[in-house]
Amino acid sequence: MLIRETFPAGAFQCNCTVLACGDTKEAVVIDPGGETQRIAELVAHYDLTVRSIIHTHAHLDHIYCTRDVKQAHGGEVCLHRGDAFLYDGFAMQAAMFGWKVQATVPVERWIDHADRITLGNRSLEVIHTPGHTPGSVCFEVHDPDAGRLLFAGDTLFRRGIGRTDLPGGDSKQIVQSIQQRLFTRDLDTVVIPGHGPTTSLGDEARANPFVRA
Ligand SMILES: [Zn+2]
Ligand SMILES: [Zn+2]
Repeated sequence: MLIRETFPAGAFQCNCTVLACGDTKEAVVIDPGGETQRIAELVAHYDLTVRSIIHTHAHLDHIYCTRDVKQAHGGEVCLHRGDAFLYDGFAMQAAMFGWKVQATVPVERWIDHADRITLGNRSLEVIHTPGHTPGSVCFEVHDPDAGRLLFAGDTLFRRGIGRTDLPGGDSKQIVQSIQQRLFTRDLDTVVIPGHGPTTSLGDEARANPFVRA
């Protein structure tokens, strides 16, 4: 059994997820953009051990509370190396909104395409999907009860795709990533985007106006 709690967090309402193996209570936190209190309540409620703090990419809204979550619960901080410049530029990203932030905590594991991140009896597969940012990744988990779940970050939204006009963005690459690395997978996969409502790979392959299957 998988425990999954997804909720919008922070000023940009990034979808943050606490995902845990129901047998071992080992957990990962995906994109802690805010709601550190809620994350702490979930960890306490389910009696979880946070093994990893993982990021679909290093935009401000997806890493905003990484430091707080790390300090409260531990867990290995994971990121794709392609987004190191954004992670290191956290203070600069925040300054663009007039916000002052504390320094980031160091990345402890650089994740790459086809890597696996373990949580108890389950594991997440890392899918490198550059385009929104150079180091954008999706995470897929397969569960006998819940089926296949894909945490898509800002690569794929319900009837949308991520913007590519920010530093490191590439509009051709994001379409290629979605066509070659997402639409080629099991189309029944449920997609939890970085923002907004849930969808499925099949729905988007059929009806997403920005990218053809
Ligand atoms: Zn983003
Ligand atoms: Zn975002």
